[in-house]
Amino acid sequence: MLIGPGGRLGILGGGQLGRMLALAGARLGLDVHIFSDGADSPAARVAAGQIVAPYTDEAALLAFASCVECVTFEFENVPAHSAQLLRDAGMCIRPNPLCLAASQDRLEEKRFLNALGIPTAPFAPVDGPGDLAEALAEIGLPAILKTRRLGYDGKGQARIAAPADAEAALASLHGAKAILEGHVPFLREVSLIAARGADGGFAAYDLSENTHENGVLVKSVCPAASPPEVQARAGIYARRLAEDLDYVGVFAIEFFELADGRLLANEWAPRVHNSGHWTADACRTGQFEQHVRAVCGWPLGDPVRLRDAKMHNLLGSDAAAWASWAGQPDARLWLYGKREARAGRKMGHVTVLGADPQLTAKSAE
Ligand code: AMP
Repeated sequence: MLIGPGGRLGILGGGQLGRMLALAGARLGLDVHIFSDGADSPAARVAAGQIVAPYTDEAALLAFASCVECVTFEFENVPAHSAQLLRDAGMCIRPNPLCLAASQDRLEEKRFLNALGIPTAPFAPVDGPGDLAEALAEIGLPAILKTRRLGYDGKGQARIAAPADAEAALASLHGAKAILEGHVPFLREVSLIAARGADGGFAAYDLSENTHENGVLVKSVCPAASPPEVQARAGIYARRLAEDLDYVGVFAIEFFELADGRLLANEWAPRVHNSGHWTADACRTGQFEQHVRAVCGWPLGDPVRLRDAKMHNLLGSDAAAWASWAGQPDARLWLYGKREARAGRKMGHVTVLGADPQLTAKSAE
């Protein structure tokens, strides 16, 4: 399926990722339509059209999909069943909805990654209170107890540093099925953004180095300090994952990099990713355009990085400093148009561009 300029692309999800995808699609001459469960979403306000309905409303989903030529999604918690419904109805949905099952549940996700030979932290399922002691005996301390589903940005997880912490950790998850992970003494956290095209083409961006505070990404810096062989191995893992799922679109893998150079995958996301926002300003083709190209059946663009980049998330009241960022020549400001700046809410980001390696080399000649 090739969707050319003038075609219609649908996105499930109305957040900032959908907004930046819609802007990239519009630039390529597409009409982008948004399906969101809330009115006045950041994505719908820059899109050609929208439907507001719950993600479980099958009739609304089918009506939406029949108005566009292909449907994609901007967040992985779209119910896998809803995505599959569109595929079963013969609609074009990219990436393959199978990837939702392989990323929505932390236990399935880790099993899937390990089956592909992509290492992770050691883990054990904790389906109920009776399983925790056995899991702790297997994994050891320190460890992290995480809900299997709907955990993101450090939500739904509790650290267990000593046996006495176990009960409180369990109580904090309110009975949700969980997974116990060994705590990884990582050197740095890095992520790889990659894309696979409908023609099987593959493109990976440079690794970025990520800083989290309270489980939330605050900064991504590219290039990461990782050695070239670590970058190469991340690309091999990403390609393996994409080919296994017959994946079409952009995706991200977040890794813990250990001092000995090993990479342990923490999680992967079947969508454009916050740690890849820098690509939109620093690369020949950014992640949003790349995803639109992939799902519309276009050839992938060149992911080469033209500038060094530091991306800062603007959380909550950080966005009030927009005018000062707007006045900095090397800062590229993105604001998501959210009406309310609640504490910790992602309101925008700024990418600060650094040395241009080609220009620097030329001026040294
Ligand atoms: P997550 O929600 O799994 O992405 O976790 C959020 C953040 O918590 C990660 O980016 C890490 O900084 C930290 N974290 C999560 N799992 C582990 C682990 N097994 N070992 C060490 N740090 C972790």
